[in-house]
Amino acid sequence: MTTNKKSVSRDADEIILAKEMIMLGARLQVVESETALSRERLAKLYRELQGCAAPKGMLPFSVDWYMTWMPNIHSSMFYGIYRFLARETHLEGVRLTVRAYRLYRNQVACQTHGVGTPTLSFTRAWMLIRFFESRMLQLSACTQCKGEFVAHAHAIRHNYMCAICRPPPRAGKKRRPSAAKSTSASASSSASSLTSSSSASSTPSSTISKQLSDTTFTGVDPDPAAGAPDNPATALDPSDPNPHIA
Ligand SMILES: [Zn+2]
Repeated sequence: MTTNKKSVSRDADEIILAKEMIMLGARLQVVESETALSRERLAKLYRELQGCAAPKGMLPFSVDWYMTWMPNIHSSMFYGIYRFLARETHLEGVRLTVRAYRLYRNQVACQTHGVGTPTLSFTRAWMLIRFFESRMLQLSACTQCKGEFVAHAHAIRHNYMCAICRPPPRAGKKRRPSAAKSTSASASSSASSLTSSSSASSTPSSTISKQLSDTTFTGVDPDPAAGAPDNPATALDPSDPNPHIA
């Protein structure tokens, strides 16, 4: 048997993996770089599964997106799950990312009673891992809640406070108080429960949740381009007048 001959079972494994990624909302470039399947086959698979052609364009390369308020909370939550699975299971590579993303998505669904859609898309989650691997990002521990949050590499960790303990000053200045309240409260409780799970918390999560519930922050970023979700169909757009969360 020559090495050129393609293994059928391996091919099948890759198709299953590609299918899983596409169903999670992965961009075609991501699937292409993680499997040995041809672009043509992937494009065909994408169309078959999603019922439309794969979107074109560049992948989201901005590191700054992960630093904005709501994306930072969600990214930190996802990365907490990712690290937990990396430590506790034998999963690795993209399969680890896929499993972590599934758990993150389930967590968002639980916190929003099944009506919320994740702020972090699969492609952003995949990029996040790459940014960590290339040491462009680091984790910084919040001095208040002790949770670990995504931050720029080499950022000063001294006296660092997270986006939950110190919400941005624009919090509460936007419309839709009822919708915003449920969004921020659910995000804060999920993030605080996950990010502070590995260490003793000096601030009870209920206090953090209350702190956020008292504000009516909608998660609007100062820079709309940097904070905009890359996948409008599945991401929570804070500026969307018709949010997915009731
Ligand atoms: Zn904190």
